[in-house]
Amino acid sequence: MDIFKFGGASVKDVEGVKNLANIVSEYKKGELLIVVSAMGKMTNKLEELTQAYLLQSDTAHSIFDEVKHFHFNLIEELFKGTNNPVYDDVANTFVEIDWLLEDEPDNDPDYIYDQIVSIGEVVSTKIVAAWLNETNIKTLWVDARNYIQTDNTYREGKVDWDKTNQLIQRDLISLLHQNIIVTQGFIGGTSENYTTTLGREGSDYSAAIFASCLNANALTIWKDVPGVLNADPKWFDETEKIPQLSYHDAIELTYYGATVIHPKTIKPLQNKGIPLFVRSFLQPEASGTAITKESNPLPVPSFIFKINQALISIFPKDYSFIIEENLSNIFELFHQHKIKINTMLNSAISFSVSVDDNEEKITKLIAALSTQFTVKYNKGLELVTIRYYNQQTIDRVAVNKDILLEVKSRHTCQMVMKNKV
Ligand code: ASP
Ligand code: MG
Repeated sequence: MDIFKFGGASVKDVEGVKNLANIVSEYKKGELLIVVSAMGKMTNKLEELTQAYLLQSDTAHSIFDEVKHFHFNLIEELFKGTNNPVYDDVANTFVEIDWLLEDEPDNDPDYIYDQIVSIGEVVSTKIVAAWLNETNIKTLWVDARNYIQTDNTYREGKVDWDKTNQLIQRDLISLLHQNIIVTQGFIGGTSENYTTTLGREGSDYSAAIFASCLNANALTIWKDVPGVLNADPKWFDETEKIPQLSYHDAIELTYYGATVIHPKTIKPLQNKGIPLFVRSFLQPEASGTAITKESNPLPVPSFIFKINQALISIFPKDYSFIIEENLSNIFELFHQHKIKINTMLNSAISFSVSVDDNEEKITKLIAALSTQFTVKYNKGLELVTIRYYNQQTIDRVAVNKDILLEVKSRHTCQMVMKNKV
C-alpha cells in the first residue's frame, strides 16, 4: 500500500485536479491513500478571513465570497455545471462558516483559526474525491479528523500517536481494501471532536503519519519541482536535483530551512524505514528524489538561504564570562519568547545568535535580556547554510558579502552575511 500527497500547487485549478486523477489512474500497485492540501493559496485566504473576523472587519464577507467563488467556479468548470452532488456538499461546508461568522468572536483566536482555516482541506478533498469517482476511480472521502488525534494546542496540534494508530488500524485498513481513500492533510481532531491544525505546510506531516500507522510501502510527495534540489531556484540560477538522500541529510536540510518538505515529515518515516519519494506532478514519469536510510557516498553540496535575519549579540554587563549559568538564563528567555535560534556562537564574554527578524517578538526579547546583559543587534542579514561545504562553495555565496559570523562543523557551514557597502 502506498501514500500519495498532493499539495496546494498541484490542485490549484481544473487542470491540476485532472492531472492528479491521471497520476492516480497510472498507479497499478494496489491500495492507495491520498492526502490532499487546500487548493492553491486558499489557506492564506482563509487566514485573512480569520484575521478579518477576529478584528470584526467589514472585509470578512468579501474575503469569504472570494473563497466560495474560487471553489464553485472550479467545480462548475470541472463537472460542467452544478449537478454533481459535491456542489451542494461544498456549499453546506461553507454554511457552517457563515454561521460562525454571524456571531462575535468570543473564543480563543487559535481555536477560531483552526475551525475556519481547516475548511480549505475539507472542500479540496471533497472535490478531488468526487472527480476521481467521476473518472471511474472508486474513491472514498475520509475525514482525517476521525483518525489524526491531537491535543487541543490549536494551530500546532500535538499528535496522540497511540490513539491515532489505534483508530487507523481499527477502521481504515479495511476501507482501503475496497477503495482508494482521499483524505485531508494539515488537520486533526481532539477528543471532544474539535478541529485542530498541525502548523502551516503540515500536510506532508499528515501523510507521514498515515504512512507510519498503515506501515505503507512508501510515501510519494508530488510537487512542482523535479525533486529535492540542492538550492532553492529562487536564489540560485543553477540548481541540481539530488537523486538520493539519507533520512539524516533530509532532516538536517529541512531543519536548516529547506522548504521542500515539512521538517516533521522525516522522523515517522525513518522510524519505520518507509522510503519517501519527492516527485514532480508536472513530469510524473521522472524519478525525482528518493529519501531512504542509505547515505550517499558522494553527497552534493546543498545551499539553504534564510533572509530577514537579525544577529543578536549578548554581553554580560560586568565583563564576566559567558558560562553555563548565563547561557541557561539566555536560553530560558529565548524559550519564553518563543524565538528559535537559527545559529549561535560564543566567545569569552559574548554570545551571538541569528534569528528570524520578527520585530515584535525581538523587541520584547531584547527588553528582557537587557535587564541582565548588554545587547547589540544587527538587522537585514542573510543566513546561508551549506551542507557538505568546501572552500569553493563558500566563495561562491560570499561574493560581495561581509561575513559577520561563521560556524563550521564537519559537514555543515553556516554564515551570517550582509551585502558589502
Ligand atoms: N494548506 C496548508 C498550508 O498551506 C497545509 C499544507 O499545504 O501543507 O499551510
Ligand atoms: Mg500548502
